[in-house]
Amino acid sequence: MEIIVVKIMNSSKTIAFAQTSFMIQKLMQIVKMATAGDQSMQTRHLDPDKLESYEDWEGNNAAFMCPMCGKIFIVSQIIHRETRKCPNCNRSTAYCTGGRLTGGKAYIEW
Ligand SMILES: [Zn+2]
Repeated sequence: MEIIVVKIMNSSKTIAFAQTSFMIQKLMQIVKMATAGDQSMQTRHLDPDKLESYEDWEGNNAAFMCPMCGKIFIVSQIIHRETRKCPNCNRSTAYCTGGRLTGGKAYIEW
């Protein structure tokens, strides 16, 4: 298996990834986040044991409220390949990478 290793400039972080189109997509997101500089993004992680009334998370599917426009939308790890932008304003991006009860993560960035 081919591995991509990325060194982030001005950072001690080095990231290695298996080379699949999916992982490249994920890698680009991480590079974008790591190089965002002063325009640092805000992130909200869903707490699997303490969801807000406007949030949900079942299996590999999570519902978020867009912090930018208030739209509630779902992200499916399978249907959306783990990530989806707000379908109303496009200014936030939500991720669901695994199951609520199996150590997955669900979070939104804006
Ligand atoms: Zn929105």
